[in-house]
Amino acid sequence: MENFEAYKEQILKNSQRLAAEDKFKFACHPGVSCFGKCCANVNIFLTPYDVLRMKNAKDISSTEFLKEYAFPLSLEENQLPVVLLKMTEDEEKKCPFVSDDGICSIYDDRPWACRMYPIGLASSKTGVGDEGEEFCFIVDESDTLCRGFEEDNELTVKEWMDSQDVGTFNRKSESYMQFTLHPHLQEKKELGEGKIQMFFTACYDLDGFRKIVLESTFLDRFEVNDEIIEQLKTDDEALLEFAVTKWLRFALFREDTMIIKDAEIEKSARSLGWKTDD
Ligand code: SF4
Ligand code: SF4
Repeated sequence: MENFEAYKEQILKNSQRLAAEDKFKFACHPGVSCFGKCCANVNIFLTPYDVLRMKNAKDISSTEFLKEYAFPLSLEENQLPVVLLKMTEDEEKKCPFVSDDGICSIYDDRPWACRMYPIGLASSKTGVGDEGEEFCFIVDESDTLCRGFEEDNELTVKEWMDSQDVGTFNRKSESYMQFTLHPHLQEKKELGEGKIQMFFTACYDLDGFRKIVLESTFLDRFEVNDEIIEQLKTDDEALLEFAVTKWLRFALFREDTMIIKDAEIEKSARSLGWKTDD
């Protein structure tokens, strides 16, 4: 991940900042000679919402998806568990979803990073409330075969993002992004292996997290109202929202976002270091 940090630094230092109404020339369609060539040998970080969409597109569980298609890592800067889309292991190192004719087989559910390209998003934010600097830039593909920049199609950054439905993906990841800017993570406080694993499961392995919530003693230990429980049984987006706005904030940062049912259990939770004021 050191390379990732160096890349980020280089972007913040050297890239031309683009605003929503700035224009650039680009088009990508089956008629370009390079069509589908970029869907290989590339690092694509998946957000929790990406995983949710992709595993549902494949109609498999998140546990199966992660095993088959993802490569888990943790960021050095703040220990965040992240996942990379796994490329095939042969020489071509292709994305498992690209067909021989360059078509993405999960196009409607392709990840955020695939939607954004050739626009990149850089941020120097280091926490909630830090206005930092956030800007778009054109991903420098001068060393690749991308012919999309040669197409006679001028459009604004906003027009590109709207055409790719980036806004939906941004909105669905908002709570998660806020969560990752929590001071506890930004200040690099030690989380410990157990909490990092819990973080990974609750964000990326939603079907595994659902089992924990519904099939363990979780609901005996914590107050969760019936309406929410019903939602959590079938609604992946509600489950992800619950994971990042309630459960993980309680379990990782000791915020009062969950209510413990029983005083005795609360005592044992405190002894595990799960509560705020011990
Ligand atoms: S998910 Fe689709 S668009 Fe993204 S790299 Fe794979 S084939 Fe290409
Ligand atoms: S290399 Fe560029 S133009 Fe070619 S398919 Fe990929 S994004 Fe489109």
